Amino acid sequence: MASPVRLFMPAPFSAGAELPLDATQAHYLGTVMRRGAGGEVHLFNGRDGEWAAEIVALARGAGRLQVRRQLRPQAAEPDIWLAFALLKRHAVDLVVQKATELGVARLLPVITARSIAERTNLDRLRAIAIEAAEQSERLSVPEIAPPQTLADLLRTWPAGRRLTAAVERAAAPAPAPAGAAPAGLLVGPEGGFTPAELDALRAHPFVESASLGPRILRAETAAIAGLALLAASSPTN
Ligand code: SAM
Repeated sequence: MASPVRLFMPAPFSAGAELPLDATQAHYLGTVMRRGAGGEVHLFNGRDGEWAAEIVALARGAGRLQVRRQLRPQAAEPDIWLAFALLKRHAVDLVVQKATELGVARLLPVITARSIAERTNLDRLRAIAIEAAEQSERLSVPEIAPPQTLADLLRTWPAGRRLTAAVERAAAPAPAPAGAAPAGLLVGPEGGFTPAELDALRAHPFVESASLGPRILRAETAAIAGLALLAASSPTN
């Protein structure tokens, strides 16, 4: 059976409610997915679980859905955050897509001494996260914070949330599975963390260094591998 078309719609859901489709959603349903009036779509908004809806009108650039019935209740995602140094554009896009698939709750782009960029297009990253959430059958879209410096990240890191820093060539253990505890992973830029940044990380009691093995991984590979290890034992995985 073909997998259902899923759409993220921020509006609240209730049986009978009618929701307008924006131009992008109408194009996706009609032109990309070849659906028409009478077709079924599955909806999620990060709060109300997953709902079935019917396409009641679909034309070029617009359309309307009617919400029918709830298919599953809202479920929690692993309480894992990913802080990642800003990378080249395609690498950032990949990190956002894969982290969303792996269930990350919050993405925090970080400016480090060797970051090659200090800015990113948050609207583009949110669109990538929404598409990955739709495709991976998630019930929520991760939050994406504006870029901040490593110093600010460490200064404002919440109490009670462990931060696992991925450090290459370190005599450190692999990331410990987070279980149900709030956790975070920090991955450096293409050029790695500077010695001063590694000292700053070590100075914080909530930071623990972790190795992902003897090979030097691309930052995006390190993010994916580290997240898989952290999330492996999450009760919501
Ligand atoms: N340019 C650095 C070098 O050659 O030493 C390598 C940096 S690596 C490409 C980018 C980031 O990925 C690192 O800052 C680190 O966070 C993470 N990383 C890569 N390989 C790793 C490993 N084996 N263990 C832990 N972290 C790793």
